[in-house]
This record gives sequence, structure tokens and C-alpha cells, in this order.
Amino acid sequence: MKLQKPKGTQDLLPQDTVKWQYVEGFARSIFKRYNYAEIRTPIFEHYEVISRSVGDTTDIVTKEMYDFYDKGDRHITLRPEGTAPVVRSYVENKLFAPEVQKPSKFYYMGPMFRYERPQAGRLRQFHQIGVECFGSNNPATDVEIMAMAYHFFEELGIQNITLHLNSLGNPESRAAYRQALIDYLTPLKDQLSKDSQRRLEENPLRVLDSKEKEDKAAVENAPSILDYLDKESAAYFEGVQSMLDSLGITYVIDTNMVRGLDYYNHTIFEFITEVGGNDLTICAGGRYDGLVSYFDGPETPGIGFGMGIERLILVLDKQEIELPIDQSLDVYIAVLGQEANGGALELVQALRKQGLSAERDYLDRKLKAQFKSADVFGAKYIITLGGSELESGQITVKNNQTRQEVKTSLDTIKNDFASLLPELGAE
Ligand code: ATP
Ligand code: MG
Repeated sequence: MKLQKPKGTQDLLPQDTVKWQYVEGFARSIFKRYNYAEIRTPIFEHYEVISRSVGDTTDIVTKEMYDFYDKGDRHITLRPEGTAPVVRSYVENKLFAPEVQKPSKFYYMGPMFRYERPQAGRLRQFHQIGVECFGSNNPATDVEIMAMAYHFFEELGIQNITLHLNSLGNPESRAAYRQALIDYLTPLKDQLSKDSQRRLEENPLRVLDSKEKEDKAAVENAPSILDYLDKESAAYFEGVQSMLDSLGITYVIDTNMVRGLDYYNHTIFEFITEVGGNDLTICAGGRYDGLVSYFDGPETPGIGFGMGIERLILVLDKQEIELPIDQSLDVYIAVLGQEANGGALELVQALRKQGLSAERDYLDRKLKAQFKSADVFGAKYIITLGGSELESGQITVKNNQTRQEVKTSLDTIKNDFASLLPELGAE
């Protein structure tokens, strides 16, 4: 047995988790502004919840599922994505009931699992932040969701991110296009990759999604789905575009983008950026008006997106974006000798109870080493506590940046540290 993490997983250490916490907290604050509420579903689901909705012929289901039989012989899978579980929960908890506000807006964040070949930005356990919105078939909802993602990236400071947009139309339009694509690709079958030859039989739209060179060449002159949208679908897509325009959100129409999952219709989109010369999709989503009824709920439109947190952080790092993370400590207590041990413990606890972050020395180290720790922790104030301070009850607090000092009593520190701040030159 290897005592190492499984392939395709990551340990997030404190220097990483501060960034993760910031990004997650920032996402929560954006979602709040758009009136989204959090939903938490299990990490594992019945296999069929995923296989039937995501699609039996998709890569996710055919190759990437982390599935197993549990001790009760139930076919279980770790969740590979968030939409199917949220729709399952929406129906199971009858959130379609009239007394629940419509549209119903949910967000989630957490781990997803796919058995993939690990590489940069591709893991076996990865994490997504996603949203789902049920009950509106107004194109303004599609635009709101894209605008929200855009807003999130923009306020985080990410540069060079492009919104790619396409429409799959309603089921009739999609079926008409499917046939046109089969007619186009069948004579080219021999030029396609093995995977795409299979896709041509099972799910021809997915050939457009292929990353293989030969497939990309073959689909270069493929018919465009936009020529197969019926009146209703074309009008819907028009509505989405004009409202994106009115918000000043730029996008490119990408007719070869069809998304890897089976459940989409009408609007689909991806936010793509470039890392080291390669395109990287950070966020992807679309409309899925048939999915709630597929789970035996009433006919209910839905739309959502998922974004990969690892990829987002990769881009933040590559673009050298400084996140406003506060890693400072309010107070560091330097402890002079064993006789101050108990007093230091009382003092540090009293500070923490006043809401301050505080640390002390536990190792009876030389003062120089303790002051170095204070710097490493980013301590704003330093207090040096020894036997004589305990005896007299008088002590000095020092501003670690400006070196300003105040002499005060131990009682003041224990009861009202904030009263010292003006004299310490706090901003
Ligand atoms: P790709 O084409 O890159 O495989 P996908 O179409 O499988 O992506 P989605 O199912 O749309 O991806 O997932 C949404 C987002 O989740 C992706 O845009 C990406 O940011 C992230 N993601 C998907 N799979 C992985 C993975 N294995 N590791 C890390 N992030 C991932
Ligand atoms: Mg994938």
C-alpha cells in the first residue's frame, strides 16, 4: 500500500485554502446579490440519477464514473457533476410546489469526481461552484445567469475571459440538426477518430465537441445549428443576444460548441480563457427545460452553470491576481521565562474573547525568535510579558509597524484592548 494520496487528488495546504476560502466567500456574496440560496446534496447518488440524465453515451457516464456497489448491493456513484443531483433533490423535495417562490435559485459548492487522466486543470477529485435556476423560461434568466458569472470573474479581476454562446434550440430543432449532421458526417466517417465514429452512431452532436485534431478538421465545414433553429428557438436566441448586448456583455457565437452533457436545450455557454497558449474552460452551463420532468417532476424549465475551482485558481495564479486576503494577527504575546507561562495563557484567552486574533509563545524561546514569529504571523501589536509585568500589573503594548508604544495595565488589556488603539496609532 502506498501511503500517498490517490492519483488525481490534491492536498490543499493553508497557503492554498486561504485562496479557496476567499473565492468561495466571494462567490457566496455574489450569489446573495442575485438572490441565490445554498443547497447541499450528498456526495454520492444512485448510479441511475447520473447515468440516465447526464446521458448513457457521454464520456462522463461511459468512462469517468467513480461507481461501486455498496454493502447493500446498491449501485452507487460519487457525483461527477452538480446539476443532476440538484434536479433530483428539487423533485424529491417537491420544490416545484406552488408555495415555493419561483424562479427558485440555488447554488452549491463542493467536490466532484471523475475518473480522468490527470493533467493541469484536470483532476479526479475536483471542485465546482455551480448554480441552478428553476421555473423561468424568460431569456432574461439566461442572461442573468451569464451576467452573474461575468460579474464574478470581472470583480475577481480575471482578464481575457470570453463568453462563448450557442443555442441547441428546442427538441424539434435539435432533432432536425442531428439529422443534418449525420448526413454531413457519414461520408467523412473514415476520417474521424475511433471515438467520434462511435459518437456518430450514438450522439452525433458530440463529434463537434471532440478535441481530436482529425475530428476538428472534419467538422470545420459542418452545417451550423443556427440554420436549423425553428421560429420559436430562433426568437429565443435573439432575445438572449439582445439582452446581453443591452448589458454590454460581449460574447462570441460558437456554433461548434455543443457541451458534453445530454440534457441541454436552447442556450448553452462557456467562459473560456487562455493559459499557456491553450484554451481553458473555467465555467460552463446551459438551459435544461426537460430535466425536471425527466425526473418525474412537473414540466419545469431550468438553467445553470458549473465552474471548476481548481481551474479558476490556476487562472488567478497565472494572471498574478492578488486576492485581498487578510492574513494578519492582531496581537502576539512574547513570553519571558517560565514564570509568565500561566499569565500569558490568561492574557491570550482574554484577547480572543474580545474578538481579537492572538498568539503567544509556548516554547520558552529567546525573545529574538519570538519577535520573528510575530513578524511571520503579521502581528499588528506585540506585548512582552514577564515576571515583573505580572508583579506590577503594568505592561507595554507596541505597534509592530510604527513602533508606537503605550504603557497600560494588564486589566485594561484583559477587559478593553480596543481603548488602547487610538494611542497605538491604529488606522
Ligand atoms: P472538459 O471539456 O474540460 O472535460 P467538461 O465539459 O467535462 O470539461 P463540465 O462537465 O462542463 O466540464 O464541468 C464544468 C467545469 O468543471 C469545467 O468547465 C471545468 O472548469 C470543471 N471541470 C470539469 N472536469 C474537471 C476535472 N476533471 N478537473 C478539474 N476541473 C474540471
Ligand atoms: Mg470532461
